[in-house]
Amino acid sequence: MKKRIIQVCLIIALIVIAYIRISNEKSKPVKETRVALGTFVTIEISEKNPDNPVIVDSAFRLIAKYEKQFSPKEDYSEIIRINTSASREVEISYDLAELLQKSQEISELTQGAFDVTIGAVSQLYDFIDKTIPYPDEIKENLKHVDFTKLHLVGYTLIKDDPAIRLDIGAIGKGFIVDKVAECLISAGIRQAAINAGGDLYVLENENGEEWRIGIQHPRDDSTLWGYITLKNAAVATSGDYEKFFMKDGTRIHHIIDPKTGLPADKAVSVTVIAPDATTADALCTAVFVMGPEKGIQLVNQLDNIEALIIYEQDGKLMQCLSDGFMNYNYEDLSQT
Ligand code: ADP
Ligand code: MG
Repeated sequence: MKKRIIQVCLIIALIVIAYIRISNEKSKPVKETRVALGTFVTIEISEKNPDNPVIVDSAFRLIAKYEKQFSPKEDYSEIIRINTSASREVEISYDLAELLQKSQEISELTQGAFDVTIGAVSQLYDFIDKTIPYPDEIKENLKHVDFTKLHLVGYTLIKDDPAIRLDIGAIGKGFIVDKVAECLISAGIRQAAINAGGDLYVLENENGEEWRIGIQHPRDDSTLWGYITLKNAAVATSGDYEKFFMKDGTRIHHIIDPKTGLPADKAVSVTVIAPDATTADALCTAVFVMGPEKGIQLVNQLDNIEALIIYEQDGKLMQCLSDGFMNYNYEDLSQT
């Protein structure tokens, strides 16, 4: 009888050890990168939580949902439905209404340097075939670029001009990053980072402190321009090196000045720190268009927003920082 009890106890002990091992194994930090949103998306959870794999998986599923809904190409997407509708009024989803509301705010703030109706012109540039539109084509299509012709009444989008084409390329990724951050936070996660091709939202790092974030050198992808530290905030970078080709010595890239319909040429790269990734993403595109002088002036007027602008002068890369940028422990590596 005694022998039997010892045997049972041994078996129970073995089961308990095995269970602890398995749950320890599951309770690891996770870092996963997948191709999504036309770039690499990395979600990293630094704390040990047995639900980490499930949480990361549901975050990627959320990204896939938005990617379908906001796709600029797929027939079934909401953006295509709006862009191909001949009607003046279109019903839109709660999410898109939220995104367009924010986008209109940034347009007003930046006096149209950011304009979600850039679609009519941005679609003329082909970065695969490396073709640029004729000046007449740009002129003709610029008539349909005007955010003031777009109005939101609840969940109804009113287009004063039916030829308006939405392009959410400069704000969509930030918006989705914010939704992923909300998803992680509501799952109880506090130590994590999300990076969608340079649009980041970071919670705390594994020690409950700031993350150290590298800023890409705009002309040397093997080097960093510098570092900043950040927690519970967003940072985004827009650069003329992301999507470009050279034509007769001119860099043709994807950030368009809505006034001219041509690639903006006052900056090379802009990094914006903001409380949320939607704002950081949209503002870095806008500040890029505005250039160092007007861009920094605007950022210095805004609360909780900082920026680093890299621009070219006499063939040399220069930088310009907003008043509070140093508060993020900026380590400048550009002179080394
Ligand atoms: P990335 O997507 O490389 O992070 P951005 O956030 O700056 O870069 O977004 C650039 C994209 O935004 C372009 O590919 C285009 O779809 C769109 N876009 C270009 N110029 C503007 C603009 N002035 N305002 C709003 N959207 C723009
Ligand atoms: Mg942007």
